[in-house]
Parts: sequence; structure tokens; C-alpha cells
Amino acid sequence: MLNNLKKLSVFFAALGIIFVALYAYASCNRLVVVYPKDGATIKANSTFFIGNTNPNATMSVNGEAVKVYSNGAFVRVFSLKKGKNEITLVSQFNDDVKIKKMSLYVPYAPATTPASSQVLVPYNASIVVTEEEAPLRKTPYGDRLTPIKEGMICQSVGIINNHYKVKYGDGFAYILKNFAKPADEMVLDKQVADKISFHEDKKYIYAVVSLAQPVLADIDAKNNILNVKLNNTSFNFKDTQKKTSDMSIFSFNDDSFSISVSAKNLNGYDYYYEGKKFVLKIRKPFSNYVEGKVIVIDPGHGGKECGSIGPTEVPEKDINLKISKYLQDELTKAGAHVYMTRESDVYVDLYDRVEFAQKKHADILISIHNNALPDGQNPYITHGTSTYYFQPQAKILAQSVQKNLIKVNGFNDLGVKYGSLVLTRPTNPVSILVEVGFMINPFEYEALLKPENQFKYAVGIKNGIVEYFKNFS
Ligand SMILES: [Zn+2]
Repeated sequence: MLNNLKKLSVFFAALGIIFVALYAYASCNRLVVVYPKDGATIKANSTFFIGNTNPNATMSVNGEAVKVYSNGAFVRVFSLKKGKNEITLVSQFNDDVKIKKMSLYVPYAPATTPASSQVLVPYNASIVVTEEEAPLRKTPYGDRLTPIKEGMICQSVGIINNHYKVKYGDGFAYILKNFAKPADEMVLDKQVADKISFHEDKKYIYAVVSLAQPVLADIDAKNNILNVKLNNTSFNFKDTQKKTSDMSIFSFNDDSFSISVSAKNLNGYDYYYEGKKFVLKIRKPFSNYVEGKVIVIDPGHGGKECGSIGPTEVPEKDINLKISKYLQDELTKAGAHVYMTRESDVYVDLYDRVEFAQKKHADILISIHNNALPDGQNPYITHGTSTYYFQPQAKILAQSVQKNLIKVNGFNDLGVKYGSLVLTRPTNPVSILVEVGFMINPFEYEALLKPENQFKYAVGIKNGIVEYFKNFS
């Protein structure tokens, strides 16, 4: 009994503390600036102050009024001059005045990076690739070409900074020096591939081409056709027509060969070398149902990586995870096999997220994010929903998700965008990245915080996925 009384008194004391805390929260003023940091250098002629104060406070920045939203959030775009900017933010609630003084610096001239030497040092040698999936680029830091695979042999013509310049098709490409080493074997002037064979399993068709030497590949995917070119290789296949139920035609000419699948679009492919055999792995066309599909959901950021942070200090990683969990439930209910790259607030490397999806043999990979802007832009003008793809085959999935998400969230339709991101670059699975809304637009942010909306957005994304499969073939 005495023990119970003690418990009761602890309970009331705790309740008292909560009430006092709540009263203090409502009656006291506060002024938190989430962005930018005091002393920051801003490389633009404007920035935005993002933070929170008492919802009933009046606020100003250098005397200019700042709108305070019902959750206490503020987002104020502010022009800056070159050099040092002294800024005073004032929030007043009754007699409680909070003042924050900040300094921001705008550089007078854009910071000049010393022009790195672009001198090509001749280096004529045959080199062998030592890294799987590393990028091959048009220029040392330019656009990516078909990724390289371990064991490929190619002809270097020179070294430029830390890149090998190598022969690629009729032109040249660049490989980071760390990803290759001198080869024992000479690069063949020309090799002729005269044999292609096919086999298949439940999910994939494999086209296998025997070569004298594994060489750089150039794989181009358009609609339902894969066109393959291999360095120094001409094709003279004996069997000119091969068919399976899922792969309707195959053709070749001297310097390339093509394979097309029997659907409107490709839905995943990859290539690799098995010794000297070039293997093209093509996913069979999807059935029209979400049931049985393997879907990997990637809640963006996590752990030490917060993503962007909203005015009331909720990090993007939390909202991404909540929407992702609702999406996981909805897709599971629809009959899909769903896996998450993270289920809690932990850090996961970007490349590990892709590898996870590939190990699960995912049909599609969908990364969930929310957006922000750099300095110099205005989150009251630029905001809304966008969906990113990189591989042409992923565009129709991106379009379907974008259309169905817009229907339920009513945000601005920023459209489907082409973007080279770690989570959009895989050719297998079909991969997209969704930016549901803007963390730094006060209206979208407030909407994103509500569980009922997070659920609604997940349903929109699910509808997009269901529709994608329904219209696939
Ligand atoms: Zn993000």
C-alpha cells in the first residue's frame, strides 16, 4: 500500500513536470535557426532562414517581417550583399524577446580552383581492368559510359592526371588509374565472334558470346532493344535467327548485335565476363501483377546522415522511413515480397543499398526522399514532387509513380527527371528515386509531418507501381 502510494506520488510528480514543460513551451519564447549556420559562406546572392519560434511570436530579420506558421516554423528568403552580412533575427512573444545575431559571408569573386594540368603523357600499353562495375567516362570527369568489369583488356594511349585514356569504339574513354593495371597480354587488333548461344532460367535469358579476349563493352538500351558493341570485335554469327518465347528477334551486323524482348520495354539487364565469355543477362518481361514481385524500398539517408532538416528540426531521414514503412505495408498487402534497405535509423552506404537490392534479385528498387534547395533559390517558388530515373527502361515506372503520387498529394508536379544518382544508375533492377515533397517549403513540410498524409503518399506510390506492372506488356 505504502509502495503504491509512493508510485502514485511519483506519477503525479511526473505529470506535474509534463504540465509545467507544456506550459513553458506554449508561454515562453524560443528562437531556433536550423539553417544557415552562423559564420557560413554563402555562394549566392540570397539564402533562406529556416527555423522555429513560438507559434504566436512576431518575427523579423533585419527589421523585415517574417511569417510564423501555426507549428512555429519560419522559412524566409533573404537577399545578401557581397562580403560580410550582419544579420539580426528578432522574435517577440509578449515581453519575451529572443535575439539572434549572425554573420554570413558572400565571396566577392567565385572561388577559382587552380586549373589542373590537362597534359596527356603518352603511355602506349595494354591494360587490364581490376575493378568490377567501375565507371568508364567520356572525359576524365564527364558522362559515364557502360561500366567496366574486372578482367577487361584495353589499349591505353596515354595518362592524363590520374586517368588512363583508352581506345573505345571509334574514339576514346577514360578509366581512373586505380581501376586498372598493365596487362601481360597484348590487345588484339581484331577478333571475330562467330558463336552466340542462349540459355534461360525462371527469370532471365542469357546470351553468351565466346571471345578470344574480354574487351570493353558499349551497351545501348532503347525501348525493348539492347544493342551491343565490343571493342575490336566484329560479329559473324552462324545462327542468324534465335528465338525463345520471351526474346523475339536477334540480329547482327559487322560491329554490333541486337537483342529485343517481347515486351514494350526492357525491365532489367546486366552483363559480365565468365573468363573470355561475354554474358548478356536479360530479365524476361514482367507479368502484369504486383503479386509475387520482389520490391526493394530504400528509405533515403539514416543514422549520421539526416538529409535535409525541416524548420521544426525534423530530419528528412525520419519522414523517408515513415513513408517507406507505409509503402512496405501496402505493397505486402498487394502480394509483393518487400525488402527494406534499412528498417530503423541507421547509416547505410549508398552502394551497399544497391548491392542489397541486387542480392535480393529485386524486380524494382525505389528510393524514397524529400527535397531541399541550394542557396540562391526560393522554396516558395520551387517546390513539389519529382521522380528521378537514369536508365531509359526506368522512365515509365518513374512516370507512373509520379502521376499517381501527384494525384494524392496535390503538390506541384515538377515532373519526371533524368538524374545520374547511385540509386538510379543500376540497369538491374529497374530503379527510381522519388522526391515526395520539399522539407524547406513550410506548407509541404507541414503536410509531410502528418502520419495520415505519409500513409496517403505511400498509397499513391503503390498505385503507381501497380499501374506500371498492369501496363507493362
Ligand atoms: Zn534525400
